[in-house]
Amino acid sequence: MKIDMLINGEPVGATGGATFTRNDPVTGAPATTAPAATVADAVAAVDAAAAAFPAWSRIGPNERRTLLLKASETLAAKKDEFMRLVVEETGSTAIWGGFNVMLASQMLREAASMTTQVGGEVIPSDKPGSLAMGIRQPAGVVLGMAPWNAPVILGTRAIAMPLACGNTVVLKASELCPGIHRLIGACMNEAGLPKGVVNVVTNAPEDAPQIVEALIAHPAVKRVNFTGSTRVGRIIGELAGRHLKPALLELGGKNPMLVLDDADIDAAVNAAAFGCYMNQGQICMSTERIIVDEKVADEFVAKLAAKASGLPAGNPREHVVLGSLIDLAPAERMDAFLEDAKAKGAKVLAGGGRDGTIVQATVVDNVSSDMRIYNEESFGPVKPIIRVKSTEEAIAVANDTEYGLSAAVFGKDIMRAMDVAKQIHSGICHINGPTVADEAQMPFGGVGASGYGRFGGKAAIDQFTDLRWITIEDPHQHYPF
Ligand code: NAD
Repeated sequence: MKIDMLINGEPVGATGGATFTRNDPVTGAPATTAPAATVADAVAAVDAAAAAFPAWSRIGPNERRTLLLKASETLAAKKDEFMRLVVEETGSTAIWGGFNVMLASQMLREAASMTTQVGGEVIPSDKPGSLAMGIRQPAGVVLGMAPWNAPVILGTRAIAMPLACGNTVVLKASELCPGIHRLIGACMNEAGLPKGVVNVVTNAPEDAPQIVEALIAHPAVKRVNFTGSTRVGRIIGELAGRHLKPALLELGGKNPMLVLDDADIDAAVNAAAFGCYMNQGQICMSTERIIVDEKVADEFVAKLAAKASGLPAGNPREHVVLGSLIDLAPAERMDAFLEDAKAKGAKVLAGGGRDGTIVQATVVDNVSSDMRIYNEESFGPVKPIIRVKSTEEAIAVANDTEYGLSAAVFGKDIMRAMDVAKQIHSGICHINGPTVADEAQMPFGGVGASGYGRFGGKAAIDQFTDLRWITIEDPHQHYPF
């Protein structure tokens, strides 16, 4: 499939005509050929968004809501096309693609409902006769950068609430799923959003540094949001800081799931399997460490290993639970993690095998802090079990990481589980639920190396608006001289 970019409502190629191709990670066949944007193209996309901003920012909340609701419907109606692209560009399953479309569509509906919530307040003033207000206003052009792993959800998340707040947007597509991110732009266009309100730029991987820098540096860009790795997140944070642009950074995770000594073991096993292996573990909230109280560890580990062994991994076009990883390099990384762990005394209780980019659901028991899999984000289906002697040790291990995105605590004593949840350094924590969960209206985001800022619901209004202090005053007020 050959695609173009979306700039000022028009399908355009790159200046000079350069392209790059994303190959299907399973078959190796070309999946999508996309324009390799130049810096001039990136600037043109921001210029288009800046030109569209005055009109878009002034339209009433109900008109904006109607358009976003229409966009939600348009996106849902393209479910089959998105599912096909998820299989071809990312190697994941069609089920994952379908779930992506459902949640992305809900995100647009939620954003539509928030258009009347971009409000403010009247603040008591000490000046006689003065009416003082704190008013939220759209910021301007918002730059969104989204990854490939939950491609429809994260591409949509990067633009939905910015648009609802009255901003115009430029979405920088992932090089690994340009077709999916471009299709989100097509949905917005088809829904009738005015030209220039949504722009989509695609770039070759090697051009990312200069394209991203040009986008962030453009004076019309007033907010930056980035979802991706902590490594690149630091670069984005530095660039945004240099240009004094507020940034929302949604980065990696090493999300712990704590299984306390009074946990419902079967429920914990189901949550662990889902949190570990959904989308092959390539979710920022994927369970990355299972921390189990040794009093229940044998039963939990045996049941999880049995469950993991029964999860088929293979070509996503077949009837499988686990599809392909995004590329060969992350699959080979799983081998390296396993070799390292085994050499240091860990035991592989399920999986451990790999066929190219397809990696089996793998359980590694007796993992200790000297192993790579204990510390590094795997972003794959190789999962460590860390056995602990007490609830206190479980909390200490959970917090023994620079990351802090999601967490889960399993235990029947809810007061204790809540006490544990409060002590975990993470943006998100679910008691008796998996680490993987997202709803459009929730404050989503992390702490530490998982980034800062929040998508979702009211928190996103704070992110994507300027809070102004505006007063109406008595022109005849008293001055000292
Ligand atoms: P990545 O950081 O490797 O790539 C993201 C984008 O960064 C790329 O599309 C590329 O254009 C850009 N980039 C690369 N080098 C750059 C440079 N030098 N300067 C500027 N830009 C550059 O991430 P990825 O592999 O696409 O996504 C996987 C990561 O995303 C994982 O770490 C995962 O945990 C994280 N993630 C986080 C969330 C969240 O909400 N917190 C959600 C999904 C994924």
